[in-house]
Amino acid sequence: MDTMLNALQNRALELSAARDAAPEGNWRVSRDDENIAWLVLDKPGKSVNTIDRSVLEELDRHLAALEADRPRGLVIRSAKPNGFAAGADINGFVGASQSAVREMLEEGHRVLDRLAALPCVSVAVVHGHCLGGGLELALACRMRIAMSNATLGFPEVMLGLHPGLGGTFRSVALADPIEAMGLMLTGKSISARKAKAIGLVDAVVEERHVLNASHAAIFGDLVRPDPSLRSRAFSFKPARSLAARQMRAKASEKARPDTYPAPFALIDLWEAHGGRPERMREAELESFAKLVESPTAQNLVRVFFLRETMRGLRKGRSEIKRVHVIGAGAMGGDIAAWAAKEGFAVTLQDIALEPIGRAVKAATKMLEAVLKDPLKVRDALDRLVPDPDGQGVAGADLVIEAAPEKLDLKRRILREAEGRLKPGATLATNTSALPLPELAEGLSDPSRFVGIHFFNPVSRMQLVEIVRHDGVSDETLRRATSFVVELSRLPAPVKPSAGFLVNRALTPYIAEALKLVDEGVPKERIDARAEAFGMPMGPVELADQVGLDIAVEVADTLRERLKMPLPETPGWMHEMIREGRLGRKTGRGLYDYDADGKPKKIALEALPDGSRDDEALIDRLILPMLNTLVAALREGVVDSEEIADGAMVFGTGFAPFRGGPLRYARERGVDQVVARLTELEMSHGARFKPDKGWDRF
Ligand code: NAD
Repeated sequence: MDTMLNALQNRALELSAARDAAPEGNWRVSRDDENIAWLVLDKPGKSVNTIDRSVLEELDRHLAALEADRPRGLVIRSAKPNGFAAGADINGFVGASQSAVREMLEEGHRVLDRLAALPCVSVAVVHGHCLGGGLELALACRMRIAMSNATLGFPEVMLGLHPGLGGTFRSVALADPIEAMGLMLTGKSISARKAKAIGLVDAVVEERHVLNASHAAIFGDLVRPDPSLRSRAFSFKPARSLAARQMRAKASEKARPDTYPAPFALIDLWEAHGGRPERMREAELESFAKLVESPTAQNLVRVFFLRETMRGLRKGRSEIKRVHVIGAGAMGGDIAAWAAKEGFAVTLQDIALEPIGRAVKAATKMLEAVLKDPLKVRDALDRLVPDPDGQGVAGADLVIEAAPEKLDLKRRILREAEGRLKPGATLATNTSALPLPELAEGLSDPSRFVGIHFFNPVSRMQLVEIVRHDGVSDETLRRATSFVVELSRLPAPVKPSAGFLVNRALTPYIAEALKLVDEGVPKERIDARAEAFGMPMGPVELADQVGLDIAVEVADTLRERLKMPLPETPGWMHEMIREGRLGRKTGRGLYDYDADGKPKKIALEALPDGSRDDEALIDRLILPMLNTLVAALREGVVDSEEIADGAMVFGTGFAPFRGGPLRYARERGVDQVVARLTELEMSHGARFKPDKGWDRF
């Protein structure tokens, strides 16, 4: 693909008289012997093209030259092997005011309108990622040709936005409007084939046919089909209103207009103006500029950068190719399956055959759901080798122990594995709470031993805590961190303090919820309040999910090791654990569970204040979490506020639109948070005492 792309571009450049080449800019310009202009986007020093101000300004100058020069056609494409363009440059939106954004967008709109109005036929040839602003650029061309490997989409909604460079009105005018709206509302990408089916692109070709296909488009041999009957039907407002109602209902299942306004703004936009592109264009500008300033968009942009920061912790390649996992239980099986999916050669060991069989079955289900393509599933399963005798240890670059949480057992397993490791291999534990220094005792070389703590389920939880200890070498930490990024997960380096970071912060949240249940607050109300705040799951349901036995054990450990003043575990909890009502895994816990593992919740009576947060309830749940994070930051368990927030968002799903718990504290006001904690300390006891870390926060 790479070579073909280069060959094509070289040909285009060779054909060029090179009279108007711009050597240092974002665009390479050439003219072929059919008098067709080629504009090739190639942002200097970047592996991915993004659409920013300089790209558009330069494009504007090239368009002015083309208007004067009148080529027979124009082809726009990208020189980057991995795709056309990844979208707009998000940096441009950070902290920008509404008026500055509006000005930027107006300028961008003007350039793309100029492209759309060129007297000659313009063709966008897209390959790889063609997303957001990149797709909007392609939509401003008269025709679009997609390479079969192209993926197209509008991810803006994930940043609390909708398309802002003409994507809203151009997509619904060119493609099936319901499909186009679906793309913008979900943020999901589609294949080139699907894009052709819905009318977003005009042809799908292989790389070797690009030149012919571009010429065919320019010389009129590739005809755009008429807008479908469906498009025409939705040019009438009543039809749009009907569809908009359904879209709103669907969007409301996932988000609320006050916390995620973008999808609702987009539906309003289309309902009001979908039949008149000119009006929709104006309204898009207005709506986008408003959304950019919303706390939701600013926080989601922060979350985007938190992800980049965590990915950026990778230093060089891990050089890990073979992974051996010891313990094929809930975690080991999941880790092994995920590593196989990401291309690693994996061996999976257990003391019994049955867990390995169950793990392979679960892996198949997970891989089918995630990969969708049966060939890819088969390839991944081929890389996952059951290894009851542990033969894989000797050839592994990394051995991950995921046996039950028992110090002596883990020590024995680690010692045995170490004796068979090849030189240079890394030894890791997935322990959730056991102290790394104690696990390292008895190893002959603790420098290559590290904690790689995954979260459950691995396929959905992006966070992995990298747990250091005094004896670990920098090289082992570097390797473990790079491995996690190569696994498409996000590393957070932490100190081996009890509960590390995320479990330590979650425990007071769960413990307080159980105290509220003990006080007689309906558990459904507690969960509904936390979910309304933006948590993916309420704390009572979370306790069931973690397992009541584990939740109590972790709380006991934190009380004992960190002297954390957690509320007492209610007596009825101990009773439930004795009776084997451990939560979801036993089908009964604080909730009862149906056959699909869904909790049976009693419908709550509507509260007089609608769905707004109950400050009293939410503060008792959330503020101890913030207090604990500030303590962890003060103790150096985690290095920075950013990593702490990223860990909570990617490890627990903490309301992304709030930008992370510490961002929430800052937004609410540190003084206000401390004052509220002090009030709660007076009314409910020492567990709310503000940590001294707030003084320096
Ligand atoms: P699990 O009980 O589901 O699985 C443990 C597996 O280890 C079992 O299949 C068992 O047969 C096997 N095993 C026992 N002794 C062994 C031996 N000597 N050699 C090889 N295999 C052996 O436990 P789990 O929930 O997967 O937890 C495993 C580890 O991961 C624990 O340290 C736990 O704290 C940690 N962890 C668990 C979660 C979670 O949510 N379950 C999350 C993060 C980390």
